[in-house]
Amino acid sequence: MLKTDLHIHSFYSTDSKINPDELIEKAIKGNYDAIGITDHFDIIASELSTHNVITFENYCNIMDKLKAKYPQIRLIQGAEVGEYHWFKAEMDKIFSFRVPEFIIASIHFLSDRFNISVQFEPMLTDEQQRDYYKLNLDMVEEAEFDVLGHLGIFKRYTVHDSSCCVDLMKDIFRTIIAKGIALEINYSGYNKPVNRLIPYPEEIALYAEMGGKLISIGSDSHQLVHFDSQHKRALQEIENLIPDYKIFLPKETR
Ligand SMILES: [Zn+2]
Ligand SMILES: [Zn+2]
Repeated sequence: MLKTDLHIHSFYSTDSKINPDELIEKAIKGNYDAIGITDHFDIIASELSTHNVITFENYCNIMDKLKAKYPQIRLIQGAEVGEYHWFKAEMDKIFSFRVPEFIIASIHFLSDRFNISVQFEPMLTDEQQRDYYKLNLDMVEEAEFDVLGHLGIFKRYTVHDSSCCVDLMKDIFRTIIAKGIALEINYSGYNKPVNRLIPYPEEIALYAEMGGKLISIGSDSHQLVHFDSQHKRALQEIENLIPDYKIFLPKETR
């Protein structure tokens, strides 16, 4: 079975401390078949100044150099795009230089621009939860990308009951299955108070029940210590939830 992690931030995202050389060396030691570096490229105003620390062109050049330096591992150049469907035109312009090998699209903000990807209080109301899942549904319907990032990320710090949103979740799963978008199984929740996979295990089981097989495993590491620390545990849990799961890997371009 392939050992992959396709959601990792290097220090080219300001919220990460990971030196890419140290990351790649750790991945080689950990016998990874492939890792994906997915730095943030966000257009939303509050993130613009903090997340995009280098231009996309420079990012591509740096990734090319790293690939040449470490031929013993498959390094994949990805990008994590927030609220992709809101900023398609802007992203098309950025990616006209080069389309990343794969794109994770994620929702980090509610419609009113409330940031739900960081710790917050109080819990989301049912109405806010529905807003969140509806935004994910709009994004998977309106944008073209490879991996749906961390569905349910707002539940990383505080357990929420999302039974009010099962209809929306089903619509999201139906859409990504039809479009061939992979569901990310994000295990950053293992390092947070809820100590569980994102989406929650019962939601992953629902995806499997609906015929979903294609997944991408992501640690969403922002510190080197979190990379590879719980990969085995995540994989075991995934094997129980989706026995016939298939790991997403972009086609080799060179
Ligand atoms: Zn994210
Ligand atoms: Zn991320």
